[in-house]
Amino acid sequence: MKLKFWGVRGSIPSPDPETNKYGGNTTCLEIRTNNNDLIVIDGGTGIHKLAQELLTQMPINAHILITHTHWDHIHGLPFCTPIYIAGNQLTFYGGQDLITGQGIERTLTIQMQHSFFPIEENELQADITYKTVKAHEVFKIADATITPILLNHPVINFGYRIDCDGSSLFFTGDYEQPLNIYEPEDKAYAEFQMIIDERVAEIVESIKGVDVLIMDTSFTDEEYLLKKNWGHGTYTSAIELAQKAEVKKLFFTHHEPTRTDTQLDEIYEQLLHDYADVGFEFIMAQERLEVIF
Ligand SMILES: [Zn+2]
Ligand SMILES: [Zn+2]
Repeated sequence: MKLKFWGVRGSIPSPDPETNKYGGNTTCLEIRTNNNDLIVIDGGTGIHKLAQELLTQMPINAHILITHTHWDHIHGLPFCTPIYIAGNQLTFYGGQDLITGQGIERTLTIQMQHSFFPIEENELQADITYKTVKAHEVFKIADATITPILLNHPVINFGYRIDCDGSSLFFTGDYEQPLNIYEPEDKAYAEFQMIIDERVAEIVESIKGVDVLIMDTSFTDEEYLLKKNWGHGTYTSAIELAQKAEVKKLFFTHHEPTRTDTQLDEIYEQLLHDYADVGFEFIMAQERLEVIF
């Protein structure tokens, strides 16, 4: 498989001379199978540049997996130009809407309501299909097997495992390792911790042995102390999970919007020093970075 990062920023696009190296676009990943089947994960603003490239490859058949429907993972979708052109085929996959119980189609339809956007969803010329997916319900996209795993975030958020051509990838979307809401001296602490440990063991099992793991690492350990329960991960929690799951390569993504290139470089240098013997490669995700695995 081949992976290309088109957006690695969390929460809000952050174009700035100081974020130019890693990039300011929000989440979007392009995955190509060995047969060149196209799987996209998330439609943050990064999808706009990907779409420009897809215009040279029409007609396209794209399968777009949505981890969750927070703005930074969908707000590039109305600017994914192939949706306006007849002959293209796009299939959107994602979880049901938490509020209404409706399917993933609600996201694009609402985003393209006239109050927000000049063209309505029912005016799109491409052949568009929506598939609402459920946790652990495995499905196929061409030769690829996709497994959605429900992960801890303040809305339904699926991590997706993709297995194809003997290779494997897992992307968490936004994810905070489950946190014990009790203090160690509370009566309920031990029981709650058991539930968390079981949950984490299930997640480790789902990720087990993947070639490429891409994780939400919004915060440093220091920042996390003030941002517990925001639904995002840390560099160290990602390294710990990758270690338990025995992955081959870990990518840090969903960079904090105010984080400059220099700060990301400094964090990375420190991690390389602290985890020199961790036994797998870890890398800061960067726009346009390509990985073949
Ligand atoms: Zn996000
Ligand atoms: Zn989110």
